[in-house]
Amino acid sequence: MPSDEKIIDPDKERRKIKCDSKMREIMAQYYMEAKTPKEQRGKPIAWITSGGPVEPLHAMDVIPIYPENYGAMIGASKMGVELCERAEEMGYPRDLCSYARADIASATVNGGPIGGLPEPDMLICCNNICGTVLKWYEVQARYYNVPLFILDTPITHTEFNDEMRRYVTRQSEEYIRFLEQVCGKKFDYDRMKVVGDLSIRGQELWQEILDTTMNRPAPMTCFDAFFHLAMIVTLRGTQTAVDYYEMLLAEMKERVAQGIGMLPNEKYRLVWDNLPIWYRLRWLSNKFIERSACLVADTYTSGWTSWMPFVDRSDFLGFLGESYARIFLNSGTDIMADNIIRMVKKYDADGVVFHSNRSCKPYSFGQYDIQRIIQKKLGIPTLMIEADMVDERSFSESQIETRIDAFIEML
Ligand code: SF4
Repeated sequence: MPSDEKIIDPDKERRKIKCDSKMREIMAQYYMEAKTPKEQRGKPIAWITSGGPVEPLHAMDVIPIYPENYGAMIGASKMGVELCERAEEMGYPRDLCSYARADIASATVNGGPIGGLPEPDMLICCNNICGTVLKWYEVQARYYNVPLFILDTPITHTEFNDEMRRYVTRQSEEYIRFLEQVCGKKFDYDRMKVVGDLSIRGQELWQEILDTTMNRPAPMTCFDAFFHLAMIVTLRGTQTAVDYYEMLLAEMKERVAQGIGMLPNEKYRLVWDNLPIWYRLRWLSNKFIERSACLVADTYTSGWTSWMPFVDRSDFLGFLGESYARIFLNSGTDIMADNIIRMVKKYDADGVVFHSNRSCKPYSFGQYDIQRIIQKKLGIPTLMIEADMVDERSFSESQIETRIDAFIEML
């Protein structure tokens, strides 16, 4: 056999998720359309925050682009340090979210994966995920000289009252008027209904996919969910997302039926909290697999279905502001702790891995309290990993590996 011929491990091949290649193809098409010159593509482009209400954009034939998704691509391509350092040279502090730093820097050099994002015609910012996005989007609106719409969502620590409801509903109406003005046409309410239904269907399918890991062995891990998440973020409200997730769900069900797990030997089941560490996904995944530990669920990918209880199917647009205001990340520490406790029980997990993410303050600030609550209420081992989702300078391989080993011993 020639020495350069690849040896195929049939067991590994059997465990691979077949839909992965389709996912890559769809995402490539999505970015190719967005990167087509404006005169040929015809549709305007809106940059929008990952927790922003995207459905009205689809109803108006606007292509939504997510700088945070691009931040993840920058992290996964290991281009984060270079771009973050460039942003720091521009005067942005290292404590600022690395998605923001990487995006602001890449805009000035058209750098990063796929040669930078296509230029926006408008920016849509919803602060239901954090306050950082407000300033980040203001900076980009000035840089590209385009209109910016801000949907301001009050934090729902423990309750969502009528004043909050009125406040966000009024803004949803302003959002529609803003789109009519920028797009130069009337809002298509019939199309909005179709998009709303597709959005709900996509989220239901995504949750069903995530729930297949309730089975033993789990047919996928949260590292796979991090990859397949891009569809519900970028193409939420489209037929493409629904079709793809139907295909992925069918594959997951088939794996469950055949007893195909992502791990050859699943011994421990864990829940992950916070964003992925994009530049070390494979390394981390292997570390846990080698120790027979399966990350069966996470708070991040399930965040895109967390507004589902507040969506109204008969009046999607009427409840748009409220449902987007009530997402997981816009709630208080107690609600976040309850969410993790629910997940531990639902997925029958033995422990929780927290990523204390230097970049994402709203996600990370309460983690030590949440860790304490979980240890007190469930009495299970937890692990705190200190890192950053994009900026590799905050990742210490030896320290993290030692902590993982100590944690596994406690399970
Ligand atoms: S601070 Fe957190 S929520 Fe805000 S943009 Fe950065 S990663 Fe997203």
